[in-house]
Amino acid sequence: MSHDLAVARAATLRPIAAVAEAAGIPVEALEPYGKHIAKLDAGYLAGLKDRPDGKLVLVTAINPTPAGEGKTTTTVGLGDGLNRIGKRTVIALREPSLGPVFGTKGGATGGGRAQVLPMEAINLHFTGDFHAITSAHNLLAALVDNHVYWGNALGIDTRRIVWRRVLDMNDRALRAIVNGLGGGGNGFAREDGFDITVASEVMACFCLADDLADLEARLARIVVAYTREKKPVTAGQLNAAGAMTALLKDAIKPNLVQTIEGSPALIHGGPFANIAHGCNSVIATRTALKLGDYVVTEAGFGADLGAEKFFDIKCRKAGLKPDAAVIVATVRALKMNGGVAKADLARENLEALRAGIVNLGRHVENVRAFGVPVVVAINHFTTDTEAEHRLIADICRDEFGVEAVQCRHWAEGAAGAEELARKVVALCEGGTAHFQPIYADGLSLQGKILSIATRIYRADDIAVAPKAAADLKAFEAAGYGHLPVCMAKTQYSFSADPALLGAPTGHTVPVREVRLAAGAGFVVAICGEIMTMPGLPKLPAAEAIHVSEEGLIEGLF
Ligand code: ADP
Ligand code: MG
Repeated sequence: MSHDLAVARAATLRPIAAVAEAAGIPVEALEPYGKHIAKLDAGYLAGLKDRPDGKLVLVTAINPTPAGEGKTTTTVGLGDGLNRIGKRTVIALREPSLGPVFGTKGGATGGGRAQVLPMEAINLHFTGDFHAITSAHNLLAALVDNHVYWGNALGIDTRRIVWRRVLDMNDRALRAIVNGLGGGGNGFAREDGFDITVASEVMACFCLADDLADLEARLARIVVAYTREKKPVTAGQLNAAGAMTALLKDAIKPNLVQTIEGSPALIHGGPFANIAHGCNSVIATRTALKLGDYVVTEAGFGADLGAEKFFDIKCRKAGLKPDAAVIVATVRALKMNGGVAKADLARENLEALRAGIVNLGRHVENVRAFGVPVVVAINHFTTDTEAEHRLIADICRDEFGVEAVQCRHWAEGAAGAEELARKVVALCEGGTAHFQPIYADGLSLQGKILSIATRIYRADDIAVAPKAAADLKAFEAAGYGHLPVCMAKTQYSFSADPALLGAPTGHTVPVREVRLAAGAGFVVAICGEIMTMPGLPKLPAAEAIHVSEEGLIEGLF
């Protein structure tokens, strides 16, 4: 059994009503899903709106490496650590997708002593939110083809249908398909394909919506196809938004669970961090801010993608004002950034650490550029040496002007994150945050991409493909110029080349393609190959998962 699963199983869960009560949520506001999970009633949420907001803390990281950094683990550990030092804290996280659970990455519920529970349920079907999102998405797909079948009154050009289908599974065989085969009764054969559910624009709408009414308005704005004259056709024109919203009516309520140490956690929504913005729902974050004096939340990938989008898309649009950010790094990942191979990470290597730490330094500068004060969390692994930790702390202090705190929440739970929690409180109470997005709404779409590329990725320039440049102009002409951009780039490097680790400069960011997500409210800029339907690895995690004779799920990690 994996270590994470063994620790999770050894924990004693409290009834969800007790967790709610400790967080000040009345039992009447709960819609229980079994004993340890509950959704929060919509009426209760609406009643919270005049309460003051707690402090908002973002957990982000250096560029990810195969060595793993532990953002979710640190988000949970910090939440527990804050509760331990007497700050009422609520954690807000994304829901896991089945694709990675059965692929290579495993679940997304943290690790060691810093996990949210019940991990098996959260990682598998949970409360069915992803099922609801998948259904709403595919209802719209069915309505598009059905509209064409029954005479195509809107004049949809079947070569220009941009609404694909989704499934919450890694299944490369479905990336490109032909649908409508089998004769006239089955519609018009055309090229189609599937994306993974987390890549659905319905997911992005869901995660950015203020409430059910705003969700419906966003769904109606989704562009599904274009006519022969290249005029957009929306879900609203197909009268789809009402039924889609009906499918999402319960899903939109945030899910309450607990950590191993009993902290309340809201886990809700889970958009991709590449073609979408990669953080939990606005509804969950806002709810957490009403319930807790502190809210700890996570953004996907490294800070160049995750934090940038959290700030420029989510916080800008939802009016959130983060008070502090924690940048997670590990000795191992910094050494990898310094050129060490994964197999050699267990050996002390101060030289590689010194070479790779430039990656961390740049993320620190970048997050500060948004007006958000930073502390670095070094997530301790058993192979780390004291000399390595000392070197990181010294360089952070002397060269980056930031504190680096060693954290042992994975091994020790809340106690291991107590020092980090105290630093975070000091940052928040210091009141130095003056959050602002990195670019203004009024800048041109291309100007926004250029700002991110030069100020965050430190590129010299961008190279926008001619078709993409024309599309950006067309989006502006159609009234979408005020939208923020959502960068879809490799998570491994500041550049568009996944092999360029550390802190590269002098590169050019290629913008191959742009896509309008009118419902979500952003324009996606695709820089390099981005997979919206991942495949399974040669040895998928699924092969080791089974149900034991006692009825317990084994093999999850
Ligand atoms: P991220 O959110 O950055 O993708 P996670 O927090 O999900 O990363 O952690 C990824 C994996 O690494 C998990 O299986 C977790 O148990 C493991 N992990 C995290 N921190 C540690 C640590 N300090 N020591 C050992 N394993 C860890
Ligand atoms: Mg994570």
